[in-house]
Amino acid sequence: MASPTGPIAITPFGPRRHPPQQPLANPGPLHAGAAERHVARSESVSEHQRRLFTLGLESHVDLASQIRYDAERCVACGLCLPHCPTYRETRTENESPRGRIALMRALASGELSMSARLEAHLALCLSCRNCERVCPANVSYGRLIDNGRALIETRRQRPMGERLLKRFAMDALLGRPYRLRMLAKTLRAYQVSGLQRTLRATGLLRLAGLRRLDSLLAPVPPQSRWRDHYPAHGKAIGRVALFTGCVTDVFDRRTLTATIRVLNTLGYDVDVPRAQGCCGALHQHSGELRKANALMQRNTAAFDVSSLDAIISTASGCGAMLSEYAMLLPDSRDARLFTNKIKDVGRFVINSPWPAHAKLTALDARVAIHTPCTQLNVLRDADSTCELLERIPGLKLSTLPDNDRCCGAAGVYFLTHPTMAKTLRDRKLQKLASSRPDILATSNIGCAMHLQDGLQAARLDTEVVHPMVLIARQLRIDGPSRAQDRSVGIDRAG
Ligand code: SF4
Ligand code: SF4
Repeated sequence: MASPTGPIAITPFGPRRHPPQQPLANPGPLHAGAAERHVARSESVSEHQRRLFTLGLESHVDLASQIRYDAERCVACGLCLPHCPTYRETRTENESPRGRIALMRALASGELSMSARLEAHLALCLSCRNCERVCPANVSYGRLIDNGRALIETRRQRPMGERLLKRFAMDALLGRPYRLRMLAKTLRAYQVSGLQRTLRATGLLRLAGLRRLDSLLAPVPPQSRWRDHYPAHGKAIGRVALFTGCVTDVFDRRTLTATIRVLNTLGYDVDVPRAQGCCGALHQHSGELRKANALMQRNTAAFDVSSLDAIISTASGCGAMLSEYAMLLPDSRDARLFTNKIKDVGRFVINSPWPAHAKLTALDARVAIHTPCTQLNVLRDADSTCELLERIPGLKLSTLPDNDRCCGAAGVYFLTHPTMAKTLRDRKLQKLASSRPDILATSNIGCAMHLQDGLQAARLDTEVVHPMVLIARQLRIDGPSRAQDRSVGIDRAG
């Protein structure tokens, strides 16, 4: 490790020195594949910083040094500003990437002290990473904002109620698939028993301040356990594992079921490891680095990587996080092997050989494609949905105008910042209201829920689906019949 020459900071562990600034290494080509790019970046990080990442430490000295290191890359050129959704809406420097980087650097250097306003500027960021994609200096904005929020977490004491709510949502539910499934069963009972209809009709939900949460609640499918293994149809050409995630596993089993059926039809054995869980993205992006670290390690241990051709992710938000495990755990060989196997389902299906019997039937429908920020800015594969759906004869495909702008979903942002989230979504809905497609295809569950909620409120009857659902439908393997489920080895999920 380089000799400590930086300024001394007082920490909970006593006085410590900041490590000296690191020389700025080339982080790799802008358009390299996500995994390679992030591995290249992680290799440019010093041993000291590697150790900090690996430990997932949240002491303010460790985070501050990393923030200063990353912020140093920003040359304040401002090229990212027109691409930033919050800057476009507010025209405020502090709501721009350049402004936020300056704020984080000042906070990390001790030039600025913690304040509610500073926290609000960082909180309003969507973590969409549009700025990162267009930055000519390769600033790792995603890592910066995660660390900036984590630094704030180390310095801020939240009110008891807020802490309890966060603990309940982030730790008691997201980190525990069993509890999330129990909640889903309760919500399903609420929906199918008629209680939801009654509460809506009487206006009690509005009185209790729960109307918005209730409106976001899509019909919850029955919750059953996945089998460990779903065999290929005919002779297997490969073996993959499915990453089910947490929210997707509970609320979007239709997509997971469609994915298993399509992969089996293409000749892949599909494993669904039971020990897997939440990808950790929500923890990572809200400054809970230590907890994200634990979730990452749990997932890397859950998959028998050496026996798999690929680990398939369906939600681009999860896929983006999974593709960064190697960067976030740079000392972990397991994480590197795991990341190398991560494949987004759309691209994987496009690149797979299709047997002669897998024939897509025609569909006479107008389909608009919404590209999630994670697909565009992290996975850097914005075209896969279009390339995949082009294979369905008869579809009239279009991409939503402004597909490089966040819809406002952004993890739990649409719950924590409903005004900005709605403003951004309304821009998408205006386009949808004028073009009125039959179907809106998107590869991220958060975007799908947020947009579906807006479409319902606007009384637009556009169906929102994951592209794999459409592929399964046109392969005629999406039927709900038990006979078909048995024939493809699916536990009935929806
Ligand atoms: S983040 Fe990149 S694009 Fe934005 S001001 Fe800094 S160097 Fe320029
Ligand atoms: S991540 Fe998105 S919202 Fe945040 S600063 Fe960058 S472009 Fe703006």
